[in-house]
Amino acid sequence: MPAPVRAGDLTSVAQVEDHASVCRLCRLCRERTMVVTGSGPVDADVLVVAEAPGYHDDREGRLLEAAPGELFAEVLELAGITREDIFLTSVVKCRPPTGRAPFPDEVEACEGWLFREIALVQPRVVVTLGSLALRLVTGRQESIAEVHGELQHVAVQDRDIVVWPLYHPGAALHVDRLADALRVDARALGLLLAGARSERSTRERAREARTPTVPAAELPTPAAMPAPAPSTGATPHASDEPQLSFDVE
Ligand code: SF4
Repeated sequence: MPAPVRAGDLTSVAQVEDHASVCRLCRLCRERTMVVTGSGPVDADVLVVAEAPGYHDDREGRLLEAAPGELFAEVLELAGITREDIFLTSVVKCRPPTGRAPFPDEVEACEGWLFREIALVQPRVVVTLGSLALRLVTGRQESIAEVHGELQHVAVQDRDIVVWPLYHPGAALHVDRLADALRVDARALGLLLAGARSERSTRERAREARTPTVPAAELPTPAAMPAPAPSTGATPHASDEPQLSFDVE
């Protein structure tokens, strides 16, 4: 019998999918239709962690199908991203019977796949949906009600990760108050991502500006350079919008 594979030894998301798709590490393998592993671009900036496959997900092989998927699509739109932009995965990869929450030993058995996905994708931000995903990723026993929409910084396998906690669309579907909070937090996530993109393009422009594209001999000497434009007194980013950004590098 071959030795069991350690998730930490896998070197690609495809390998994680191959091995997880035949996993029998916990009792959830007995009633699943299929293992629903993470999917999306393997270099995604945003990795979303749901709780577990639902009834339709188990049959379709895709997370957040049906009604929760419709609210999730709205969340992504408010954040200015699409399903095609994100890597979407979950705490456990097989559907718990009757749609119950995964038991602690099932989470423990499955977490290696998730943490390997995070380590391989190296997203700029991890969006957790609901308390279970939040607690697993951060390692802190916080309630989603206390910290939703608040930026968290955690170390995952020696790497600093930015976490953005959201209510789970499946839970928010039935409670208007949670759905409203989810929409507010999704808009704020959009601002954060826009801030990060702007910061990145500023850094890239600064890097390009420091890299001569013509031979040094052809660069203008300081004496030949135009004088700096006089100050207009305007402040950079003179906008009424909050300038949200986060250090992700
Ligand atoms: S839930 Fe995770 S650990 Fe359990 S059988 Fe499915 S893939 Fe394996």
